[in-house]
Amino acid sequence: MWEQVMIKAGYRCEDTRCPADRRSGGRCITEHGPYVRLIAAPAYPGPDPLRRPNESSGEMVAWCPPCYDQAIKRARKVERDRMRMEAADADTLF
Ligand SMILES: [Zn+2]
Repeated sequence: MWEQVMIKAGYRCEDTRCPADRRSGGRCITEHGPYVRLIAAPAYPGPDPLRRPNESSGEMVAWCPPCYDQAIKRARKVERDRMRMEAADADTLF
């Protein structure tokens, strides 16, 4: 499983949203090697993939650990913003 994802990714992180200075050809330059272990995980890991893996979605892609952390942080922010908006909506009902 992991190996199939890595072969498809060319053993290189597939994130396209990491900082521009770490990108080449539109994706992260981090490659699998002795100091970096890439992770095979869904393209949208969700806000808490360890405890709520059912909220992950998308095809399996290769991630370097920092890009994966960033993707989770983005998902958490989306979730926080949504909860804040729902709370604001609830306030206006009363
Ligand atoms: Zn990366």
